[in-house]
Amino acid sequence: MDAPTDRRRAAGVTYHRIDGFPKDLFRCEAWRASLAIDACEKRWHQAQAARGEEADRLAKCRTCPIGAAHAGEKPVYRSPFYGAEICPRCGRGGMKMVGNRLSIGCYNRQLEFLRGANAKGKPPQKLKLAKRRLGVVLDSDTPDRRVVVYEDWAADVESEPGVWIPGFEELMTQVLRTTEGRVAFVAAPDDAPAWEPPRPKPAPGATKCPKSAYL
Ligand SMILES: [Zn+2]
Repeated sequence: MDAPTDRRRAAGVTYHRIDGFPKDLFRCEAWRASLAIDACEKRWHQAQAARGEEADRLAKCRTCPIGAAHAGEKPVYRSPFYGAEICPRCGRGGMKMVGNRLSIGCYNRQLEFLRGANAKGKPPQKLKLAKRRLGVVLDSDTPDRRVVVYEDWAADVESEPGVWIPGFEELMTQVLRTTEGRVAFVAAPDDAPAWEPPRPKPAPGATKCPKSAYL
């Protein structure tokens, strides 16, 4: 007698059996392989939690609607930037972040800027920070879409000597690396509610990040 058939099915996918193997299989185009449903489910779950190289390896699974169906979950869109451990301001990765927002270096430079003095007591020269307001359309591909405003300090970027570009890209990167679902960016409307990209809860016993950098 056949083993019980796994009832989880993804729309549009054909399942088959092979002799001597007790589980339903399907052709996974992303991996170019025949996979069992539970193997697909396992990879999908791993991909949701993966970071760094592991996330790269499982990138195909992360936003796969078939994997989500096999896991009994709704597919969640995540930007390729989602979870990337890079500082949205300086673009450097692989270092500790403060509040999942800035590298320690950028965080310290920001404190100096807001204080008006660096470690030598002089006004910081190289950093131009300004509070920027970015309009964000959350869940932009669904009827639940809503427009919010993310306001935060962002560093202007010197594209060529003396030419400064407002630091909206920094804020967009922060939104993409922390926010699930599709988002779109618009000019900030005056009447949209204030919003902040999600930040992880600190681990128990972790040193709390000072909030002053985000005032
Ligand atoms: Zn940085």
